[in-house]
Amino acid sequence: MERDFVPDVRTLTIGNKPVEPAGDRWDVANPATEEVIATVGGASADQVDQAVRAARDAFDGWAALSGEERSAAIHRLADVLESRTDQLLASIVNEVGTPVSLAEFMQVKMGLGHLRWQADAAKKDRTQHLGAYDVPVPTMSDVTHYPVGVVAAITGYNYPLNLAIFKFGAALAAGCTVVLLPSPRTPLTTLFFGDLSREAGLPDGVFNVIIGGADVGQLLSSHPGVDKVSFTGSDTVGAKIMEQAAANLSGVTLELGGKSANIVLPGCDVEDFAVEMHLRWSRNGGQGCAALARLLVHESLYDRFLEAGAAAFDQMKVGDPWDPATNIGPMIRPDHRERVQGFIDASLADGGEVLLSVGTPVPDKGYFINPVLLGGLPHTARAVQQEIFGPVAVILPFRDTDEAIRLANDTAFGLAANVWAPDLGEGRRVAERLRAGTVWINGGGAMRPDAPFGGSGRSGIGREIGEWGIHEYLEPRHIQWRV
Ligand code: NAD
Repeated sequence: MERDFVPDVRTLTIGNKPVEPAGDRWDVANPATEEVIATVGGASADQVDQAVRAARDAFDGWAALSGEERSAAIHRLADVLESRTDQLLASIVNEVGTPVSLAEFMQVKMGLGHLRWQADAAKKDRTQHLGAYDVPVPTMSDVTHYPVGVVAAITGYNYPLNLAIFKFGAALAAGCTVVLLPSPRTPLTTLFFGDLSREAGLPDGVFNVIIGGADVGQLLSSHPGVDKVSFTGSDTVGAKIMEQAAANLSGVTLELGGKSANIVLPGCDVEDFAVEMHLRWSRNGGQGCAALARLLVHESLYDRFLEAGAAAFDQMKVGDPWDPATNIGPMIRPDHRERVQGFIDASLADGGEVLLSVGTPVPDKGYFINPVLLGGLPHTARAVQQEIFGPVAVILPFRDTDEAIRLANDTAFGLAANVWAPDLGEGRRVAERLRAGTVWINGGGAMRPDAPFGGSGRSGIGREIGEWGIHEYLEPRHIQWRV
């Protein structure tokens, strides 16, 4: 494993060529060491135009290829990415700070698995035969699909490879061309796979990578040459994206934040899963959109649950992401660590208390914060209602299942939820009453490449992944003829 590997690619990828950035420059730090690991340059306004133009020029040719041809090209890209698995992993550990124990599966293998699925999905014939209709004359109808056009894919910092693949893999499979803009806090892995896409020999202009800050994001999402903006990030920026895209009536897919409930129904054996529950919301330092960090526990189990969960905090090792024993990495930047700490401080000032925490101090260097479980807060508290995006969970007791469902749905978000239930039937009944795009029962499982992901309310618009993700980049076309 190349532990110190930081990709040396600083060029943008426009029209399948490496392009020297002409926009603002900034430093990229390793959040676990605070060391500057790269200085990068962003796209200028002209280069945003060039990238969109390259994608536009490439669109007709890419859309005209057969599904088999597009599938083969996406598989070739997956081959090249797969051959660099170790480097991609090291790059992500060094720029995001995700512990290597988690990153290998969650940050690299999973994304590549999705890309393979999308490559196969490019071959699918999606024609729907509607059959006969005879008002006022007999006709037949089919529904076929055509690709939306040029896609601007803008991603958040926490899963640079996966978030990009969820978008560009589906868009390319659908026959769209792409301009990808990663978070300025984690641009290195994405610049690197822009370079790798050239090695994979995708046709010129089909896949473009630019980097930049909010100004570049604004130019890209409001660009008249963009047909669809697919965004992953915070609800606040998601709302801006929608506004920016509105000028051109470009479509949007928004994958935003969450405040996902984790319900423990009466009759459960909390000792079986309390540790797993805590280790799950705190992974990636709690920087996961679907972190199940709002724990709703039946009052009969509350004390037992706290007791059983204490062992999880003993197992949490905060620190060097390269240490295989580490399971909690740093926050991405000092301002984000302060924001997370602010939630803890305000909760304590408002009468909340720390019920469980990690006893050992955090390392001197790096933007670390120790995980805590907060209790004693009303459901209206900021820490209960807002996305913290750090290793902080809140716990509240409930009296009966109706109250649990009411509390779980009492949120502006609607991304995910989990129900621990004494039997599957009860779990299914509760799941059907939850307003969330993904509901796990008894812990569910890993993200599947064939299942939709996304949410309602302030968690976003539309879905990624699976057929649903591909349809975000397709327009239905009704074809009708007389018989
Ligand atoms: P963020 O909203 O701060 O930034 C995301 C991206 O938006 C960055 O690339 C940024 O440069 C860009 N941006 C900022 N202002 C812009 C503007 N005006 N116009 C266009 N682009 C602009 O998000 P983040 O902190 O990088 O990521 C964390 C957030 O992402 C959390 O809220 C998390 O829940 C969410 N997220 C959601 C999912 C999901 O699938 N639902 C997955 C991962 C992360």
